[in-house]
Amino acid sequence: MNKSYRAVVARVDRFHTDKLILNLRLEVPLPFQPGQYIELTLGTCDPRYYSIANTPGGTDIELHIKDNGNGGLGTYAMTKLQIGDSASVRGPFGNCTWRDDGKPHQILVAGGIGIIPLKAIAEAAIASSYAGRLSLYWGVQQQADLYLQSQFDALAKQAANFSFHPVVGDPLHDLIRKNEADLSRARIYISGPPAMFASLVPALLAQHADPAAFRSDNQDLVSALVKEYMAGTLRPSGT
Ligand SMILES: Cc1cc2nc3c(=O)[nH]c(=O)nc-3n(C[C@H](O)[C@H](O)[C@H](O)COP(=O)(O)OP(=O)(O)OC[C@H]3O[C@@H](n4cnc5c(N)ncnc54)[C@H](O)[C@@H]3O)c2cc1C
Repeated sequence: MNKSYRAVVARVDRFHTDKLILNLRLEVPLPFQPGQYIELTLGTCDPRYYSIANTPGGTDIELHIKDNGNGGLGTYAMTKLQIGDSASVRGPFGNCTWRDDGKPHQILVAGGIGIIPLKAIAEAAIASSYAGRLSLYWGVQQQADLYLQSQFDALAKQAANFSFHPVVGDPLHDLIRKNEADLSRARIYISGPPAMFASLVPALLAQHADPAAFRSDNQDLVSALVKEYMAGTLRPSGT
């Protein structure tokens, strides 16, 4: 059941001209699972969905917002939002959440700002003492977009089973193909722009990923791509 929550802006950190980290303090805690998202309303902007970057606990939620410069909620948050402003949150939404399903390897694959739910999932998996391998791949267009790199490097030092693999400018599946010999026993979380899925999903299937092992907020797209691959109408690029 999705409820509405009143909140105030507790912290705004703007960086790189197009991104901000926003902390909202809710009147009461919002129960959610790592990987879920909320619907946010600010000022007179149309509501938009944002993934929750932190793990559950307390009344604060952390959101990372990228301003696409189109004059919507992202632009409003980047240019006008101030500490103490009111906001409204509805949720939580989404089934792409952290669950230890006994698989020996969890592969998290993110494109751009799609990193946010996978950040929460990686942190929750480590906090729950998940004993298998946990591999995070993050593809971005430019070096400046890797703004969480030092955080993930620190996490890799803290948890021996966690590895972080950033990719700047190149297709993510090239590095996954190079690093991972066999994906047949892995759970694979995918989060990012739809265009990324069309090249990634067939490439992972060609590496023997289990068609039922994918988890994503865009599960319909994943299912459609798996179906096309199985029917032989979709092949990985370069084959
Ligand atoms: C599950 C999920 C999770 C997400 N998580 C994140 C996240 O963690 N971080 C993040 O940055 N983004 C995330 N997004 C994307 C986010 O929801 C917004 O789409 C994004 O921030 C752009 O919203 P915007 O209002 O800034 O810009 P736009 O959607 O481009 O809107 C710009 C302006 O155009 C108007 N407009 C838009 N569409 C139309 C239309 N069809 N007709 C007329 N006017 C229109 C809007 O009202 C607005 O005034 C997520 C999306 C989903 C689905």
